[in-house]
Amino acid sequence: MKPTDIRVPDYFHKVVDCQWACPAHTPVPEYIRLIAAGRYSDAYLVNWKSNVFPGILGRTCDRPCEPACRRGRVEENNGGDATKSKAEPVAICRLKRVCADHKDVDEIKAGMPRPVAKKNGKRIACVGAGPASLTVARDLVPLGYHVTVFEAEKKGGGFMRTQVPRFRLPEEVIDEEVGYILDLGVDFRGNSRIDSMQKLLTEGYDAIFVGSGAPRGRDLDLPGRREAAKHIHIGLDWLASVYFEHIKAIGKRVIVLGGGNTAMDCCRSSRRLGGEDVKVIVRSGFEEMKASPWEKEDAMHEGIPILNYLVP
Ligand code: SF4
Repeated sequence: MKPTDIRVPDYFHKVVDCQWACPAHTPVPEYIRLIAAGRYSDAYLVNWKSNVFPGILGRTCDRPCEPACRRGRVEENNGGDATKSKAEPVAICRLKRVCADHKDVDEIKAGMPRPVAKKNGKRIACVGAGPASLTVARDLVPLGYHVTVFEAEKKGGGFMRTQVPRFRLPEEVIDEEVGYILDLGVDFRGNSRIDSMQKLLTEGYDAIFVGSGAPRGRDLDLPGRREAAKHIHIGLDWLASVYFEHIKAIGKRVIVLGGGNTAMDCCRSSRRLGGEDVKVIVRSGFEEMKASPWEKEDAMHEGIPILNYLVP
C-alpha cells in the first residue's frame, strides 16, 4: 500500500464525500460550520472561492454532493420526509442560498481580490459571458491579466440568465454575482457578438477562451412535426424566448416531451403563461427520468402530471 501523500489536495477531498462529489470540490463542512456560527459572509466567500456563483447555485445546482452525504448512511430517518425510509442528506445546496441571502454585501466586497498593482501585459479574450468565461475572468484578472469578455447580449450571465426561469432564479441574484466578477476590472463588451474567430485572432490577444455555451435543445422529427410547427417549440429556445418576452402566453393544453430539468422548467413556465392542462410525457420510467427529484416534486406540486413509459 502506498503511503498517503497529504500534499495532494485530492486526499482531503476524498475523505469528505460531499466535497469529493461536488465538481468544484467546495469545502462543504467548512462553510456549514461558518453558517452555524452565524458567519454568513465568510461562508459565502468560502463558496465564492470554489464555485464562483453561490447565490445562483444555491437555487439551481443539481447537487451531486447531496446523494454522497454521509447522513444518509448513519440514520434510518433523520426527520425528513416521514414516508421515506431513507434518511435525508444535509441540505447542502440550500445552505449555500442561506449564506448568499444573509451575507453582508459590504463584507463580501471587502473580501474580493484587490486589483493588482502592476498588470502582466497579457491580453485574454473570452467569447461569451456565461459561467465559464466569467470564471476564467475572475481567476485571471487578479493575476494581472487584461481580460476582455465579448457577449452577444446586453448583460452577462449566459444560460443562467436566459434559460433558467425567473421563478427559480431571480434576475437580481444574477446581476449581483455577475457584477462581483465584472467589478474586479473585467473589460466587458455587451452587445458584441463574435462572428469571426479569424478577425479576433488578428487583434493581438495572447489567448482566446471560447465559452460560447451549453448545447442546444434537440428536435424530434415525428410525423406531423412540420405541419404543426407553429405550435411546437424546442425547450431551451422556448425558455430563452420567454426570458426575452418574445413569448408571453401559451395555449391552455400543453404537452412537454422529455424528462430532464429543462422539461421541468418548460412545464412550470407553461403553467405561469396560461397553460391549464399541462402534462409531461416521458419514455422512461418515473425513477429513471433525468430530472432531479426535487424538480419533479415541484412540477407535480403545481398540479402537473408526469406520464411515464409513453413513447411519442
Ligand atoms: S450544491 Fe453544487 S456547488 Fe454546492 S457543494 Fe453541492 S455540488 Fe457543489
